[in-house]
Amino acid sequence: MSLIVQKFGGSSVSDAEGIKRVAQRVVDTHAAGNEVVVVVSAMGDSTDELLDLAAQITSGGNAREMDMLLSAGERISMALLAMAINERGGSAQSFTGSQAGMITDAIHGKARIIDVSPHRIKTAIEKGDVAIVAGFQGMSRDSHDITTLGRGGSDTTAVALAAALGADVCEIYTDVDGIYTADPRVAPTAQKIDTISSEEMLEMAASGAKILHLRCVEYARRFGVPLHVRSSFSQHEGTWVLPSPDDKIKIQEGEPLEQPIISGVAHDRSEAKLTVVGVPDIPGKAAEIFGIVAGANTNIDMIVQNVSTQGSGKTDISFTLPIVDGQAAMAALNAAKAEVGFDSIDYNEQIGKLSLIGAGMRSNPGVSHKFFEALHLAGVNIDMISTSEIRISVVTDAALLNTAVRAVHAAFGLDGEAEATVYGGTGR
Ligand code: ADP
Ligand code: ASP
Ligand code: MG
Repeated sequence: MSLIVQKFGGSSVSDAEGIKRVAQRVVDTHAAGNEVVVVVSAMGDSTDELLDLAAQITSGGNAREMDMLLSAGERISMALLAMAINERGGSAQSFTGSQAGMITDAIHGKARIIDVSPHRIKTAIEKGDVAIVAGFQGMSRDSHDITTLGRGGSDTTAVALAAALGADVCEIYTDVDGIYTADPRVAPTAQKIDTISSEEMLEMAASGAKILHLRCVEYARRFGVPLHVRSSFSQHEGTWVLPSPDDKIKIQEGEPLEQPIISGVAHDRSEAKLTVVGVPDIPGKAAEIFGIVAGANTNIDMIVQNVSTQGSGKTDISFTLPIVDGQAAMAALNAAKAEVGFDSIDYNEQIGKLSLIGAGMRSNPGVSHKFFEALHLAGVNIDMISTSEIRISVVTDAALLNTAVRAVHAAFGLDGEAEATVYGGTGR
């Protein structure tokens, strides 16, 4: 008997038909002799719809109430799924994040898990029931308020439960057949990857490939949870994310023995670029600026400091950050304008980030040349560049991002013969 955690994303439970289809899948897994814990996301795009609704009522939003609101989305799907399973002769009980023992810190909207005590889930599965848990939410240990883990956070709920319960596998069910060499909605000829190292998947997720929440990949790697990403609309085998570098990749017959140089292309439209113009070019100013931004609870990504114009004694510092944090970061910086001594702030949300990822990059010269050549031939101008050992990222104009993804994907020979199937979802 195996203990399986199955997570179903919003597109898999977007309507009553979807919920019934998922219920049948869960009942079948349970009937095959497994213990099953299910994590669900909110139906379809309902988290976005709740956000839109709140925006019609308040501009600033109250972080505590926003979490109360958003956590309701997952509660709707968990109860409906439990009903659908019970209708099919199964026996299921649903639990909110806090009932499932997901204890977090108190940072609303991006809470971090600090403890998982799934006593009620254990009791339910020992009794032979299917336990259904609302994803994306927890409860603050200090304030006892409801928190959410950040957009896409149900993946992390699933892995955290899988780790705490010692599950044999965590299956992430979505609207495509697995992890592809690029987002199939942007590059239709992207190919499915059979296995990917967690190192590469971390870079893909950090670069915006929303197929998996970044923190879920980090968590799975840390606790050695095997992840299987697959479609809830088909029975096809999906993509395995290998938790540790020591895990052996299953090499298929006829496949080359060395790993491919490039595993994929990721893109991200969720970031903005902020430039602090006219910063005094003296030691300590960068520390001051990033201290202020950190104080506004903002994660920053790429950073570029310009060479100071001769004789001016001033420089510009640009960085990218999530659009959702843009206003808070600007307000915090503007409040300290006189103290830091900068001239002004430029802010641009019309940017896109494109990243090329591959563990084989380390030992293969010429990757950067081919990458920049492909962008050049596609007429894409580059605004910022950053690299890691296994990744090159650039910031471009948002309007050219899709063209850039397809050009780089083709240049590295990643295009497949057939088009990938996208079963559902709106890509929102
Ligand atoms: P869910 O609702 O199941 O959580 P998401 O919308 O969060 O689904 O993630 C699935 C989507 O991720 C796919 O429909 C696809 O558009 C997108 N995606 C981005 N990059 C990739 C990739 N490399 N491989 C597969 N899908 C990707
Ligand atoms: N419903 C949440 C969101 O849309 C969490 C999730 O789907 O993982 O971000
Ligand atoms: Mg998701």
